[in-house]
Amino acid sequence: MASLKGSHIEVTGIVQGVGFRPFIFSLAKHFDLSGWVLNNSRGVAIEVFGDAQCVDEFVRDISKKRPPHSRIDTLSAHDLPYEKLDDFQIKPSESIEGQYQPVSPDLAICSDCRQELFDKNDRRYRYPFVNCTNCGPRFTIIKTIPYDRPNTTMADFPMCDECKQEYENPLDRRFHAQPIACPNCGPQLTWIVDCKQIAAKNDALIQARSFIKQGKIVALKGLGGYHLVCDASSEEAVARLRGRKKRSDKPFALMAFDVPTIRKHCNVSTLEHELLIDSKQPIVILNRLPESSLPKSLAPNQNTLGFMLPYTPLHLLVCEPEPGFPEVLVMTSGNLSDEPIAYKDQNAFESLESIADGFLIHDREIETRVDDSLIRVAVGNPYLIRRSRGYSPDNIDLPVTIPSVLAIGAELKNTFCLTKDQNAFVSHYIGDVENYETLQALEAGIDHYKALFKINPVAIAADLHPDYLATKFAKNLGWERNLPLFHVQHHHAHIAACMAENGCTAEESVIGFAFDGTGYGEDGNIWGSEVLICDYAHSDRIYHLDYVPQPSGDAAAKHVSRMALSYLWHHGIPWDEDLPPVAYLCADERSMLNSMLTNHINSPLTSSMGRLFDAVSSLLGVCQLSTYEGQAAIELEAIADPNVAGSYCFPFDRNIIRTKQVISDVIIDCRAGVPRGIIAAKFHNSVVNLIASLAGKIRSDKGLNKVALSGGVWQNIYLLERTIQKLNMEGFQVLIHNKLPANDSCVSLGQAVVAGFNMKG
Ligand code: ZN
Ligand code: ZN
Ligand code: FE
Repeated sequence: MASLKGSHIEVTGIVQGVGFRPFIFSLAKHFDLSGWVLNNSRGVAIEVFGDAQCVDEFVRDISKKRPPHSRIDTLSAHDLPYEKLDDFQIKPSESIEGQYQPVSPDLAICSDCRQELFDKNDRRYRYPFVNCTNCGPRFTIIKTIPYDRPNTTMADFPMCDECKQEYENPLDRRFHAQPIACPNCGPQLTWIVDCKQIAAKNDALIQARSFIKQGKIVALKGLGGYHLVCDASSEEAVARLRGRKKRSDKPFALMAFDVPTIRKHCNVSTLEHELLIDSKQPIVILNRLPESSLPKSLAPNQNTLGFMLPYTPLHLLVCEPEPGFPEVLVMTSGNLSDEPIAYKDQNAFESLESIADGFLIHDREIETRVDDSLIRVAVGNPYLIRRSRGYSPDNIDLPVTIPSVLAIGAELKNTFCLTKDQNAFVSHYIGDVENYETLQALEAGIDHYKALFKINPVAIAADLHPDYLATKFAKNLGWERNLPLFHVQHHHAHIAACMAENGCTAEESVIGFAFDGTGYGEDGNIWGSEVLICDYAHSDRIYHLDYVPQPSGDAAAKHVSRMALSYLWHHGIPWDEDLPPVAYLCADERSMLNSMLTNHINSPLTSSMGRLFDAVSSLLGVCQLSTYEGQAAIELEAIADPNVAGSYCFPFDRNIIRTKQVISDVIIDCRAGVPRGIIAAKFHNSVVNLIASLAGKIRSDKGLNKVALSGGVWQNIYLLERTIQKLNMEGFQVLIHNKLPANDSCVSLGQAVVAGFNMKG
């Protein structure tokens, strides 16, 4: 007689909201085992009883055959004495005190659901909220754990009998799909114009599409917030949207029904194709084809377009091809510039009424606002620009265990980070914490994550800058909760984040190139070209750019011509009218600027690499007014000729990198009529050479061989790829971000790690 036994199994990882229990159920049936499975606040617990060999194979198959969107972090199994149970059951969820488990990010619509959506004979034909255990909303609708329907914003929709049957049938692909819905019981569309409900359900969709077709602007309630939608092929519609949104140059994200449509406008590599279609479906930045018929105004002065595919059934229906209907839609975040994206209906009506001609909304509430993620390919790998929908709240593994820390993050492109054991939960994208709305979003986000992941931080980390809203908030919080507050220097945080993502050990030191626009320095100046030697606990500033005044402070990041003139002034180069930034500013502005500089009025000192790129962009006449962060540098990169090998020279002495020679040589080339694309390339190449020589010097002094690159400047792909190539050629090991963006969205992780290490040590 075959031997009988049981097994108790605990699985952690992303195992809820991804069809894990149904999978276990079917697997148990397959091996003819009895027992049960349940979700608890740690993960999934299973007990099975039956033939001993079948039990063993069952345990082996859990990891081998797990559902496509699940991720198993740990699996423990121990044998139990055999018990005779009647069947295999899915038991109600349990909550375990003090335990947490990861929450699945939102998943793009799967191919099965997509097929149903367009199947005339399916009962969910053209129903905009189709989903199943493999797809649909997750993080954006979850209020608390465990992930069960009553704990989501779907709690308001009682299931109809048919849905209930599917939900309860272990063999159905909607078995325990928490957001399950159908036209009879689920959320519905409404079309609103001038605050009046004009149409519902399919009529709402038809009317919204007719508005889009006419060149009007539609506010669309999506998964993690509102989008503003218009015909991307219409120059007028795009101009209208730019005017109303007060967004003059920043590129708009685009959506097309399928990849072949995208290929009409952009080159799509194999990897880019994979990124477009995987379950995260981010916006992918693609190289634009010269023959694309789309207006240049979608992304002025850039060679790229950001495309995504429809990731919800609603987006599929909005984009559905039809003769005369635009093939490509602008799908940009629904906000006034600087504000966080609208996600609550009332708030959307108020903030978007001056932009949108109509609102296509639905009655499934969004619990957490999540922006679209933004990614591109660099050095043959995915490289994030904004990590949000589809990625958060996935945890990032830390190479070491640190005490639980809440890190508030940077002021711009804010995320926050909570750590527990060896996990870092880096939040979705919060935005620029420069106003009350964003600060509120930050506070609400922190509370939500603390509750979801059951984290009670024992310390707080924040930036060094005394005036940041986020830092002030951190101070108050530390005071209220009686928690120690660690101020972490911005560039140390950058490099520490890059180290943590790359699994650096506690003992390791790296050479860090933290190049960005702004970060408050230990001497009170604005830093941004910091060459550091650092480990997790400490950092030493070894080199930086020569300080120059930044006239009018933060405003100079926008008015880049002021930065160019400051560089000229600093180096004693006359403000001749043949230079574009000089010509751009009127005589009055110049004399005001001159007096600011000579009298040191509102002109903090900066070593920012971003501002040096701005100054060069301005000197070349590429950009004089930066209307979004990084515009001047982005446009300078866009014109850089990839086939140019020449460069200028950055001498350095002691710890200062000198800029006079580069600035003078750029001007000489300009006056000699050298094409701007060549000058831009030579300037980029000189930064590459500078990095290689500084890294070489530090290696020979200190014996370090690992180089970490972090900061917004590293979104410059021309610079990134050439720097990596050069450093690799010289035998360096180069670390770049691969889980978080290189910009300030990574700072929270770095703050957390640095604070954690300083607590330990
Ligand atoms: Zn599905
Ligand atoms: Zn139903
Ligand atoms: Fe930064």
